Amino acid sequence: MSLTLSEFSLIDDYIATSATSRADVCVGIGDDCAVVEVPPGKSLAVSMDTLVAGRHFIEAVDAVSLGHKALAVNLSDLAAMGAEPAWATLSLTMPEANLRWIRDFMQGFFAVADRFGVQLVGGDTTRGPLSITVQIHGFVDPRKMMRRDGANPGDLIYVTGSLGDAGLALRLQQSGKLDIVRHQQLLRRLDYPTPRVTEGMQLASIATSAIDLSDGLIGDLGHIVQQSHCGATIELQRLPCSAAVKQVIAESSEWSLPLSSGDDYELCFTIPADNQQQLQTLAATLDSPLTRIGAIEQQPGIRCVNAEGAIVDVESGYDHFK
Ligand code: ADP
Ligand code: MG
Repeated sequence: MSLTLSEFSLIDDYIATSATSRADVCVGIGDDCAVVEVPPGKSLAVSMDTLVAGRHFIEAVDAVSLGHKALAVNLSDLAAMGAEPAWATLSLTMPEANLRWIRDFMQGFFAVADRFGVQLVGGDTTRGPLSITVQIHGFVDPRKMMRRDGANPGDLIYVTGSLGDAGLALRLQQSGKLDIVRHQQLLRRLDYPTPRVTEGMQLASIATSAIDLSDGLIGDLGHIVQQSHCGATIELQRLPCSAAVKQVIAESSEWSLPLSSGDDYELCFTIPADNQQQLQTLAATLDSPLTRIGAIEQQPGIRCVNAEGAIVDVESGYDHFK
């Protein structure tokens, strides 16, 4: 369905208002195509994510956080390759032109865009069931980029930040136990994830592989070991968790929050053991902590071990030995 005249001004008023203006954008919003320039020696990294109402979010969710998340999850994919973000395009399908919703959505979107120097260069606006698609474009050095298939036996496995907070927030929300004052920090981790863009760009020169954690550590690390034709051991006691998540683990003796809950958008990456010193130097310059959680091995599959080195059932994340 095409747009009415008033909906065209909606694009001018709310969407074509990016504060970020990049020198490598020859033509931005307003023409039939965006025209952009990739720096010499770099390759273009492209990724896309779609959020569908009723499937990825409930229609009543705060539009500011939705705008934030729609761009942040795409930036997280760039971060996982070690790419530098540059441009985004946005496809918005909405049942009606709800100006307040669009203003809020774009506010959340542009806050992230400006923080990471991303310019919105084009998109499409149509009428239909609420759905949001963002495509992100960035630059990567093809010799340094972090792929999922680069891990080798003997490599050490690390993660950025902490694991399980977003999953805990979701769990509390779904069980009606979320206290928006007491659980404010946890809820921010779910609604306003921070893509580890700087970390990814810095790690690219020393890491052998990386992935961003959108579906949970076991599943996402599973992609690395599968595509790298190897396996891994995770040391449960090393997993970086907030006090709130640690408390749940202590009370339930099960590790599903850090192991298999999604939406953390931290990076999981591997480095050769020889690069540990280099990593430590780099870690001192980063905002988020880097934690060693295990090692890559030849034997396929992922094994979790407890503090005594005994294997814990990975499927359920249940620690039989506790
Ligand atoms: P066309 O019909 O030629 O595709 P449109 O009328 O759809 O052009 O869009 C006009 C301009 O506004 C284009 O530059 C397009 O990229 C931009 N645009 C439309 N919708 C969006 C959006 N949701 N986000 C960013 N840019 C948009
Ligand atoms: Mg169009």
